[in-house]
Amino acid sequence: MSISESIESVKRSLPPSVTLIAVSKTKTTSAIMEAYNFGQRDFGENKVQELSEKYALLPKDIRWHFIGHLQSNKVKYISPFIYLIHSVDSIKLLNEINKRAESEGRVINCLLQLSIADEESKFGFNDSELWDLFEKGRFKDFKHINYRGLMGMATNTDDMKKVGSEFSHLNTFFQKIKSLDILPEFNILSMGMTNDYQTAVHHGSNMVRIGSLIFGERN
Ligand SMILES: *Cc1c(COP(=O)(O)O)cnc(C)c1O
Repeated sequence: MSISESIESVKRSLPPSVTLIAVSKTKTTSAIMEAYNFGQRDFGENKVQELSEKYALLPKDIRWHFIGHLQSNKVKYISPFIYLIHSVDSIKLLNEINKRAESEGRVINCLLQLSIADEESKFGFNDSELWDLFEKGRFKDFKHINYRGLMGMATNTDDMKKVGSEFSHLNTFFQKIKSLDILPEFNILSMGMTNDYQTAVHHGSNMVRIGSLIFGERN
């Protein structure tokens, strides 16, 4: 299947309310342009250097999503243009994004990453850290952050019952923060990748991040 055929078939399997992020990490600018020419505008990358290079070369109406672990000292390279950072996983990082956004006169869209998987390697806040940030009002210290929602990655397993229960937990937590009614644009729940996006959508995801199913396997 070509890239455009793959996008079409993924989109057919998604409810219209779910935003598709085409995860283009390791893929060439010409592969990205094929998706772009088919109408895709949201792309996800997980390395600062690779994203910066692609940003410079590609059309400026692309909405770039940062989906990988982000080191504080690299925020400055993407803060001028990034559309949405999915992977804010510490207060230190939040503080740095806020500082960079302020100096550029921007407000940056962010998702907070919640750790929902078993694996130690998965970054993210735990429930109580996130709950404290909002419930105790500390989120207000960061005026140049637009809190748009939550992101999470499930355990990498074929056990879809387990994956489903992790996504369900994230959705419950998302609804709980939303219902505090203190964040006007808190409406994105980013969960689901190639192997688990149907389960994620079933459990309330409204943004899926799909790479291999669109662009083919990565090396
Ligand atoms: C690579 C990556 C994806 C996409 O993975 P696929 O399995 O290729 O769909 C989604 N989210 C994050 C955070 C990633 O790093």
